[in-house]
Amino acid sequence: MPFFVYQYTFYLNTRFQNIRVPRENLLNFVADVLPNGQYVSVIDDPDQRFAAFLSPLTLGRVNIAVNSVYISKVGLAIAVRYGLSRRAFSLTPDDPEMLLLDYPSHQRRLLPLLAKVCLMSSAGNFMKKMYVKRTPEMSKAIHIYSSALKATLTWQNMITLQECREACGGQGLKTENRIGIFKAEFDVQSTFEGDNNVLMQQVSKALYAEFLAAQKKKKPFKGLGLEHLNGQNPVIPDKLTSSILRSSKFQMDLYCLRERDLLKQFTEEVSLHLAQGKSREKALMLSYQLAEDLARAFTERTILQIFLADEMNVPSGSLKEVLLLLRSLYVMVSIDESVSFLRYGYLSRDNVASVRNEVLKLCSELKPHALAVVSSFGIPDAFLSPLAFDWIEANALSTGSH
Ligand SMILES: Cc1cc2nc3c(=O)[nH]c(=O)nc-3n(C[C@H](O)[C@H](O)[C@H](O)COP(=O)(O)OP(=O)(O)OC[C@H]3O[C@@H](n4cnc5c(N)ncnc54)[C@H](O)[C@@H]3O)c2cc1C
Repeated sequence: MPFFVYQYTFYLNTRFQNIRVPRENLLNFVADVLPNGQYVSVIDDPDQRFAAFLSPLTLGRVNIAVNSVYISKVGLAIAVRYGLSRRAFSLTPDDPEMLLLDYPSHQRRLLPLLAKVCLMSSAGNFMKKMYVKRTPEMSKAIHIYSSALKATLTWQNMITLQECREACGGQGLKTENRIGIFKAEFDVQSTFEGDNNVLMQQVSKALYAEFLAAQKKKKPFKGLGLEHLNGQNPVIPDKLTSSILRSSKFQMDLYCLRERDLLKQFTEEVSLHLAQGKSREKALMLSYQLAEDLARAFTERTILQIFLADEMNVPSGSLKEVLLLLRSLYVMVSIDESVSFLRYGYLSRDNVASVRNEVLKLCSELKPHALAVVSSFGIPDAFLSPLAFDWIEANALSTGSH
């Protein structure tokens, strides 16, 4: 059956009827069937065997995560360039019409997405390098990172494409402008190679297992960036000024505070269910709300941490200043868009209001760099669309009125 959302790259219809596949042709990397019909495997533990069966999916997840960042970059390059060429309305009758990207509301729609894609790009590169240099000892970390990033980056890609499509108005729907096609083409990424929701649940379960292992062995946390759990609770200042909000220390502290608290709450809730006689599987299943929040907290902290490491390698100067704007906008927007900071009391209402103001300021400071940022993606012109260039000329040519 053809996949209607995926017609451009995936179209396979194979049917077998009365075909016998010889035993020797079994894909038997993990398990086999002997001539006497006995099922055998070198891996005794069924959970480990299942994990070994699924491990080839990891490469797919890494590729999908990285690929979704590329697609978001194309969408954003088109929408930002359109926003810098399309004029609509003037504030007074004598003024020239304003560029779309001069509207603060248009900045708020596109520039946070630009910040997110830049940080996610760092995370994707980190994942790629880790996969290329993988060793058997890294399997667990690769599984957790690739699950978290595949889910988060592909979800973000769909949000980005939808916003870019709308930011290009009616022309965003034209086939030649590509974004509509991307939406149909890449929607599937949230499902194949592991459904995103299920992957995020796996991340929380893995963190729960890390917590139990550290407790049982009475050893500090090591790996997955969880070392912050070995220290004291970070302290968040009562009053958040602009310079505090933009400091990497505050940003990491807040993300770490959220992650450690949610991990604690999640393990406590699971323990409560266990104490009531429920099975481990049922206890984890019932705690899905905290599991979702925890997986998101882990992923966002990971993405920030990776970007900070990259940012540290850049010498002081104008590039570093832009990276600071991108990083701060990423954090501020994630706070602005997530209820968890208020719900769990990590920030007061006043501080959440300060964050919202900071988003506005950061957008207007980032706007003069928007073209440079999308140009830095290095996307060849042929991969963009007429909307990213002289679309008035292109429209005249395509309607033959030139
Ligand atoms: C285009 C395409 C190509 C594919 N290619 C391959 C391939 O080459 N090889 C291959 O093996 N597979 C392939 N798949 C299958 C793909 O991996 C599955 O579609 C995917 O894992 C989701 O499983 P499902 O379709 O059975 O969804 P379902 O399991 O029916 O999921 C439906 C919904 O239920 C939710 N759900 C499911 N289980 C749980 C749970 N335990 N807890 C909470 N919620 C849950 C999910 O979040 C999802 O939203 C492909 C799929 C597509 C669409």
